[in-house]
Amino acid sequence: MSDFPKRLIDGYGAFLTERLPHEQSRYRQLSEQGQAPEIMVIGCCDSRCSPELIFDAGPGEIFVSRNIANLVPPYTPDSAQRSMSAALEFAVQALKVKDIVVLAHAQCGGIRAYAEEAEPLSPGDFIGNWMSIIEPAAKAVGPRGGRPFQDYVTALEQTSAVKTLDNLMTFPYVRRRVEAGEMHLHAAYFGVATGDLSVYDPAQKKFVRVAADAHAKAFAGPRF
Ligand SMILES: [Zn+2]
Repeated sequence: MSDFPKRLIDGYGAFLTERLPHEQSRYRQLSEQGQAPEIMVIGCCDSRCSPELIFDAGPGEIFVSRNIANLVPPYTPDSAQRSMSAALEFAVQALKVKDIVVLAHAQCGGIRAYAEEAEPLSPGDFIGNWMSIIEPAAKAVGPRGGRPFQDYVTALEQTSAVKTLDNLMTFPYVRRRVEAGEMHLHAAYFGVATGDLSVYDPAQKKFVRVAADAHAKAFAGPRF
């Protein structure tokens, strides 16, 4: 027990004095009735991109699955242990979520590793294997050419999030519910450095800032 991270014990202490008293009845209710979140967020493992923090979500509000670079492999009904597919199956078939949000972000280490053709971190190269999912997105983005590396990585991050929506549609139960209008798919992009959020607009085929006014207000200096 003594080697359990002190940071977590301290954090739990803060949870007990600050958050839990406000939300105790909600926890009890969720315990009795079970969870019924209406939104699934597929996010990156990146420690700066917690969906619950970014969307100010309380317990029971969003069903989160995080992996390296917020990817979803295409539907592959084999006997491999597929964590992402299992989470998706539960969210769609059991919870019947109404929205799935793929939350991409700036400075994604997984995308950068792919763009830099980084050396494997271990002989198994789990990351390299996982990141090969973005090959269709990389093809769509095209070769880097003369563009700045940062612009190229941003294009990969955003295009990959949009392609992930295509991959989601390869799951028969996702396609069925989307086509029936019972569920909607979205791609979003979190800026990290400035906290700005953009959402993909299929009509304009680009990411568009949301709540830009509120964001500007949050960053405005003191008025007096
Ligand atoms: Zn990431």
